[in-house]
Amino acid sequence: MLINRILLRSGLGLTMSLGMMLFPSCGGAKTSGGDDSIPSENVETTGIPDFNPDSAYNFVKKQVDFGPRVPNSEAHRRAGDWLVSTLRASGGEVTEQTMTLTAFDGTPLESRNIFASFNPDAEKRLLLLAHWDCRPWADEDENPALRRRPVDGANDGASGVGVLLELARLMGRNPLPEGKGVDILLVDAEDWGTDNNEESWAMGTRYFVNNPVKDGYKPSEGILLDMVGSKDATFYKEYFSETASPRLNAEIWSIASSLGFGNMFIPQIGSAVTDDHRPLIDAGIPTIDILDYRNGKGFDPVWHTASDNMDNISSETLGSVGKVLTHYIWK
Ligand SMILES: [Zn+2]
Repeated sequence: MLINRILLRSGLGLTMSLGMMLFPSCGGAKTSGGDDSIPSENVETTGIPDFNPDSAYNFVKKQVDFGPRVPNSEAHRRAGDWLVSTLRASGGEVTEQTMTLTAFDGTPLESRNIFASFNPDAEKRLLLLAHWDCRPWADEDENPALRRRPVDGANDGASGVGVLLELARLMGRNPLPEGKGVDILLVDAEDWGTDNNEESWAMGTRYFVNNPVKDGYKPSEGILLDMVGSKDATFYKEYFSETASPRLNAEIWSIASSLGFGNMFIPQIGSAVTDDHRPLIDAGIPTIDILDYRNGKGFDPVWHTASDNMDNISSETLGSVGKVLTHYIWK
């Protein structure tokens, strides 16, 4: 995803995408409808499947073990095949979108979006997505010698996918609520981007929006997971998400609070980022981005560095995010 250094340096403590207007610093700092006072013992848990943090962790590790999933690499091809077979094994109706995208530097990227439907006939649909590709350069690493190497993408990519694979496993075993369908979208070519060029990011999602996997496909809402596995994660509401769906943001942060994750899910606006949710919002699908942001300090410090590896990944963080989502899906 894109970070704007000029605005970050301005002292606002916000990552802003290019071309956007400033917003009041107090904007959205209060949830509008979430009830943060519900104690966890009052939460109805009956019928809500148990998200397994260790299983999610293993799904993250499995991806990282393939090596950096950079488009055009053998690790990318093999990991993609494994993601398809894992989603099929969970019972999802899987569609693959293969395409050659052109990166900002002219590189043709052999890319693949992987889409899995659960309860495919239901009309009301929730889209859950994460990117599965890795950035080809650790260009934020403090060691210049490492900046041309690809990242492992344990947090930046694999963490969100790991949570979604565990949710897929649960959906295969536990019927979704009547009339509710869930689609999991693993998008490619998110992270081959460059500063000052918004179009160079989220290329797989943009392709997905312009080339529907099904005629008239339009989920009622979407939730993007990005960098949801770090030991020290905090999740602030993201600005474009709040603009697109304050109701969904409020509900997710309220569930997190009710489950006792209020120290991780901070009910305030933290950042404004260009990420995979933006093309979906532009296409009329209200989508929120749950992403790790350290208020006043930017992204996870290992972001786009050689240290974005399994040492940084916590099953507890993955579990917290996954539990919030199971409660939202099966509520
Ligand atoms: Zn990234």
